Amino acid sequence: MTTRLTPRLSHHRQDANDEGDGAEKPDEPDPALKSEKLNEDSEGIEKKLADDVQTPYKSAKTFKELGLKQSLLEGIFNVMKFEKPSKIQAETLPMILEPPHRNLIAQAHNGSGKTTCFVLGMLSLADPELKQPQALCICPTRELAIQNLDRTQKMGTFCTGTTYALVVPGQNYSEGIKDQILIGTPGRMADMVRRRKINLEHIRCVVFDEADDMLSRGFRDFSITLLNEIDKKREKKGKECQKILFSATFSEEVREFAISKITKANHIFLRAIDLKIDLIKQYRVPVPSKEAKAEVIKMIFELGDLGQTIIFVRTKESARKLHSQLANEGHKCTSITGDMQPQERDRVIKEFIEGTTRTMIATDVLSRGFDVDNVTLVVNHDVPTERSGNPAYETYLHRVGRTGRFGRKGAAFNLVLGNTENVQLGAITKKYNIPLDDIQWDKEEAILEALEKAGLSAL
Ligand code: ADP
Ligand code: MG
Repeated sequence: MTTRLTPRLSHHRQDANDEGDGAEKPDEPDPALKSEKLNEDSEGIEKKLADDVQTPYKSAKTFKELGLKQSLLEGIFNVMKFEKPSKIQAETLPMILEPPHRNLIAQAHNGSGKTTCFVLGMLSLADPELKQPQALCICPTRELAIQNLDRTQKMGTFCTGTTYALVVPGQNYSEGIKDQILIGTPGRMADMVRRRKINLEHIRCVVFDEADDMLSRGFRDFSITLLNEIDKKREKKGKECQKILFSATFSEEVREFAISKITKANHIFLRAIDLKIDLIKQYRVPVPSKEAKAEVIKMIFELGDLGQTIIFVRTKESARKLHSQLANEGHKCTSITGDMQPQERDRVIKEFIEGTTRTMIATDVLSRGFDVDNVTLVVNHDVPTERSGNPAYETYLHRVGRTGRFGRKGAAFNLVLGNTENVQLGAITKKYNIPLDDIQWDKEEAILEALEKAGLSAL
């Protein structure tokens, strides 16, 4: 292997991928917050099977009918405490698990249970007798890699002999990695492959979580080079490698690109308009000044304990500023940005997962994948935008999707200042046809009422 696997990560991307260790999360759903049902209408799903599929897949009503190993069923029922597959699990698990283990490009809403699909795929394929890397899962941030590793270890609790490696900065492997399932971030994965610490010959399955992100500008070169390298190695042995791509969002461009690169694949896509997140009540809060944004947030705090809150800001500077502003006035909160030391990042995340901290200020380093089921409120302190100033459509869905996990209720407040933010938010909500109610920024009763409307009245 040459240096070809070194990804050309933009600066922004490197920010999102610093160092650290694993964090544990108790994963008990809170039934009190669970809404009637997960909105999983099959309408609007666009399914296309690979050309060589002879008989269509049968969607799975139960985990038992999937032909999973007993040890995995025990992990699902006894550790995860899942009863039956969610819609996306019912649809994609047969595609993932049935030989010949075809490639899959799948899209499903935030919080709909995608992790379980690829985790079961990896755990099923990995042969515990073979002490070599066999499944890779690549995630855009260290937090997501750590979370996915945690879920994999939990579901694999009874898979004797299967071992795991976290491949993120700060985890050092002086010897070659002999674990079967490797989960990590692109920068460190590339580095380890280049230094021949990961043998690609036995890789039977590669997963891209947040796949659209993994195939977009910052990570594209890395992802494609890695897939090519693996295919080359596998072809030499006359073997194939299953590629599994999951995300809640795929822009037109990335979708076309994914389809052109991942051939012989089953596809599941949603129409953009079906991505609107009905169970999460979303509001627009026009404010007259920057200071008013902080005022609104303080007002929300003063309403009492709402469950956990994530406040998204555009830049590290605003994160720091808002954090100190709130802390100075005695409001307990914490913050995470891509430039923090890995250990610090891990500590902050762990405290939030454990519920010691209730409010997290975050840049978009946390906008994707992060799964804490008590998050009932997302505040967009700034409307998400690309560096160009264009609205960041997908990022909006991901940020808001940090609440309302697996059919729970949630609310999102969008604080908008001036015409620019207004137009940006308007473009996002128009694209996904999201109805937004307005709230008057300086009226506590209006905020209370909005929360009640969202089903969060347990104040
Ligand atoms: P996604 O990746 O689609 O955004 P996750 O995989 O993070 O969503 O799942 C969201 C939450 O739903 C997690 O807390 C997970 O434990 C829970 N979950 C997933 N599948 C099931 C299931 N079949 N039954 C109950 N809860 C589930
Ligand atoms: Mg996910």
